[in-house]
Amino acid sequence: MTKISEEIINDIRKKTDIVEVISRYLPLTKKGKNYFGVCPFHDDHSPSMSVSPEKQIFTCFSCGASGNVFTFVSNYEHISFVEAVRLLGNKLGYNLEHSTKIENPHQKDLEIYKLATKFYQNNINTVLGKNAIKYLEDRKIDRETIKKFEIGLAIQKVSLTDYLKSKNISLDKMIELGIANNTGNDIFVNRIIFPLYDLSGNIVAFSGRIYNTKDSSKYLNTKETPLFKKRQLLYNYHRAHEHLRKNDYIIIMEGFMDVIRASTIGIDNCVATMGTSFTKEHANLVKKMTDNIILCFDGDAAGEEATISAIKVLEEIHVEPKIIRLEDYKDPDEYIINKGKDAFINKITNAISVIDFKMQLLRHDKNLKDINDISLFLEETLKELTKTKDEIVVELTLRKMAQEFNINYDTLYQKYKQYDQTSKVNRQDNQVVVKKNDTSKYQYEKAELSLIYYMLKDSDVINIVEKKVGYFPTPTVRYLSNEIIAYYHKYGQINEADFISYISDKEELKPVISNILSLDSRPEFNKEKTNLMEIDDYIASINKYVKNKKIEELEQSLGNESDIKKQLEIINEISKIKGVKVW
Ligand SMILES: [Zn+2]
Repeated sequence: MTKISEEIINDIRKKTDIVEVISRYLPLTKKGKNYFGVCPFHDDHSPSMSVSPEKQIFTCFSCGASGNVFTFVSNYEHISFVEAVRLLGNKLGYNLEHSTKIENPHQKDLEIYKLATKFYQNNINTVLGKNAIKYLEDRKIDRETIKKFEIGLAIQKVSLTDYLKSKNISLDKMIELGIANNTGNDIFVNRIIFPLYDLSGNIVAFSGRIYNTKDSSKYLNTKETPLFKKRQLLYNYHRAHEHLRKNDYIIIMEGFMDVIRASTIGIDNCVATMGTSFTKEHANLVKKMTDNIILCFDGDAAGEEATISAIKVLEEIHVEPKIIRLEDYKDPDEYIINKGKDAFINKITNAISVIDFKMQLLRHDKNLKDINDISLFLEETLKELTKTKDEIVVELTLRKMAQEFNINYDTLYQKYKQYDQTSKVNRQDNQVVVKKNDTSKYQYEKAELSLIYYMLKDSDVINIVEKKVGYFPTPTVRYLSNEIIAYYHKYGQINEADFISYISDKEELKPVISNILSLDSRPEFNKEKTNLMEIDDYIASINKYVKNKKIEELEQSLGNESDIKKQLEIINEISKIKGVKVW
C-alpha cells in the first residue's frame, strides 16, 4: 500500500476549483464574493451553504457542515477522505489507484499497536489459546466476532516485549505506548486482549480481561497516552458511522463488551464510553452523527446515575435522547445473552422518553396506593414536565396520569399551568445568575475560537499565540492550536483549505473546526485585516481565565491541607500567581 503524500494532496486541491466541483452536484448562485446553494447535508429549504472561491472552503450556517473540496466530496459520496482525494486526483491525471492511506504523524506508533495486535491474535489461535477460545465461546462470542473485533490473547510464555525488541522497537517506546512496564516486562499477562480504537478505527490501546483466575481487577486498560484519551474517544465510532445510513440512530453504551455483544445480534450502530462518564466531547461527536440518540447504560444504580448525567450533558446541546433501562440485568451484554435478540430489538423500538424515564425514577421510593405518596408523585412529575418543550409530550403525559390515578384531566392541566408559570419565573431568575457566573467562561470560550479563527488566516497571529498564550483551557482547542503550530513550522505558512486536509484523520477535531469555519458567516469576523489589539484582548482573557482557575484550585487545596508548612507553600504560590509579595 502506497501512501498519498501531503504534497500531492495539496497539489490536487490547488488544481481543483471547489465552486466547479460542488456545481457538479448542486446548483450554486453567486452573491457578492461567495456562491450559495441548498445544503445537501441537512433538510435545507433555503440556500444555507456558502462556498468561497477565494478560500476554497464551504460552510453551512445552518447545520455546520464545512470543509474543503475533499470534505465535500467525501461527505456527499459517502466515501473516505482518501477516496475523495483519489477521485479528484484521478480526474486530473494522477494515478492514485493503489494509494489508500494518508501519512499520519503517529504512523509509527500506530504500526506498533498493529504489530502487537497481530501478535496477540496469533497467540489466541495457537494451542495455548484453547482455554481462552473456549471461555469466549462459552460466553457466545464466536470465531467470526473474535476476528471482527481483533480479539487476542496475552500469555506468560510468549513475551510481547521480546517480540517487539526483535523488531527493533526500543523499550522506551514500549513504555511510552503502555505496552511494557519499567522493568521491561509485558503490561498484559494471561489476559484476553481487546484492541481499543480511535475515531478513525486505528488501534490506540488495549483492554485485557482475565479469564481463568479470580483476579479482583477484571479489566486492565492501557494508560492514557496522546493517542488514547478516553474523554474524546468512543469505542466502535468508526463502524457505527457506516451503519447509520441503514438505521438512523445511535445507541450509547458503557462498555466495549456491550457493543461487541450487540454486534453478535446484528446491531452495529452502537458506541461505548469505555469506563469514563459521558463528556461534552462525546455529546458533540454523537450529535455530529445523528440527533436520534438512545442511552443504554448499565442496569444498576450507577447506570441510572450515568443516564441522568448524560441526559444533562445532551440537553446542554439541545438533544433529547431516548432511554433504555435493563431492569434487573447488569448491562446490555448480559441482557442480550439472557433475553436474546428480539427482546433487545423490542427495547430499542420502545425506548422511552426523558420524561417517562424521570417518572419511573419518581415512582421508585413511593407507595402509589397511599394518597400522600400519590399527591407527592403528581407534584414532582408536573414540575418535571414543565422542563419539556414538546406540547404533545405534555398532553400525552397528562392524559396518562389522569387515567392512571383517575383524576380529571382539566384539574391536572390547571395544576401543570400553575407550575409552568412558577418555573418560567425561576428560569428567568436562574438565567441571570448563570450569566453572571459564566461571563468569564463565556469570554474565554469565545476568545479561544476567535484566536484559532485568526491563526488559520494570518501567520502573524500564530507567532503571537505561540509567544503569549500559555495554555488553551479547552482540550480540543489546545490540540487544534498545536496542530496549526506544527503545520506552520512544517510549511512556513498557513493555508486554511490545505490545513483541513492535514487534519482530515482527526475526527475529534471536526466539531471544533466546523464551529470555527462557521464564524466566517458573521460580519464581525469577516474583515480584510487582523486587528492586533483585538487579538491581545482575546489572549488576555484566556490567560486571565487560566490564572484564576489555577488560583481557585490552589485555594481549594489550601482548604484541605492541614500541614502548616504545606499551607505556607500554597499561599506563596498563590501570591506568586497574583503577583504580590507576601514576605
Ligand atoms: Zn447544512
